[in-house]
Amino acid sequence: MTSTDMPRPKPGVLDIAAYVPGRETVHGAAKVYKLSSNETPLGPSPKVAEAIAAKNADFALYPDGSAHVLREAIGRAHGLNPNNIMCGNGSDELLGLLCQTYLAPGDEGLFTEHGFLVYKIQIKAAGATPVAVPDDEGLTADVDRLLGAVTERTKIVFLANPNNPTGTYIPVSEVRRLHAGLPPHVVLVLDAAYAEYVRRNDYEAGVELVSNHSNVVMTRTFSKIHGLAGLRIGWMYAHEAIIDACNRVRGPFNVNSLAIIAGAAAIGDRAHVERAVAHNDLWLGKVTEALEGLGLATTPSVGNFVLVHFPETPGKTAAEADEFLGSRGFVLRRVAGYGLPNALRMTIGSEEANLGVIEALKSFMASTS
Ligand SMILES: *Cc1c(COP(=O)(O)O)cnc(C)c1O
Repeated sequence: MTSTDMPRPKPGVLDIAAYVPGRETVHGAAKVYKLSSNETPLGPSPKVAEAIAAKNADFALYPDGSAHVLREAIGRAHGLNPNNIMCGNGSDELLGLLCQTYLAPGDEGLFTEHGFLVYKIQIKAAGATPVAVPDDEGLTADVDRLLGAVTERTKIVFLANPNNPTGTYIPVSEVRRLHAGLPPHVVLVLDAAYAEYVRRNDYEAGVELVSNHSNVVMTRTFSKIHGLAGLRIGWMYAHEAIIDACNRVRGPFNVNSLAIIAGAAAIGDRAHVERAVAHNDLWLGKVTEALEGLGLATTPSVGNFVLVHFPETPGKTAAEADEFLGSRGFVLRRVAGYGLPNALRMTIGSEEANLGVIEALKSFMASTS
């Protein structure tokens, strides 16, 4: 049999570079600290385990396809109409669903140069053309450049705010300016996966923009501050017309029964979220300061992770630092795939993990070989 006899994926699929998740483990270290995927060291709310134990869900039955209970809980927690909310198997699913719904071959999808890799993958999977737009010098989204890249073929614009892996954000005034400059038929997707962590008066996740316009979507996740990455729960808030269109495309039971119960319990526990924010506030500051003290540049972050820049000097590179940290059980994220070959992304972890990384990097920077 020759390869021409084989089924051939549609054009574009084999150009996709598959997403590489943060490493989970390393060999040889006695204890492993996973700081590669921006999960929370606090874990989920204790209310999650209670709700799962109490609920007695019948797993022989299909889940509620509209995830009604979860949408109601999200609506209550955020003061939003549940009819404008759709839940997904992680927000990744929703990002893909938006591409499948709004992009056809020939269309263009925009995202920022160092933006989340899922956008590019999903734009290509929809058969459309991905367009990466350069950031400014501070690795921050540049609204003028984004608007300058819009053509009549542009159908969707993705903005992670704050962005992963840079940790940078743009203020609500800039998001509004971006929206105002887009033609009304272009969907603006505001990916606010880290919104809860941001402590800036000029930041907004996007609720107001969605509420006032029919072409804006805000996506959120339970994977980060809510500590439920393993259950895969995300949601989006959008105009009814967008929800209606995506509802036609999505899988009918895309959110499982366990996720619905757990998510509804997690989002009601405001105190747990506040603990996670307080932990992050404290340690993001301490870690950043300590890294700078070791002579390592960092990009100012408003998320639960920090981008650390390494010199290109042999012996001191990001790749070598990654190796060194890994052998001591500290798993960070290489970000060469994001166009940042000289940096590592570190998730803010437990006190023990954070101090361990700092200690290890101190040895790394001091070593002469
Ligand atoms: C982690 C992350 C998400 C969340 O993805 P899930 O599929 O909900 O786990 C979305 N966007 C960005 C930018 C992220 O970093």
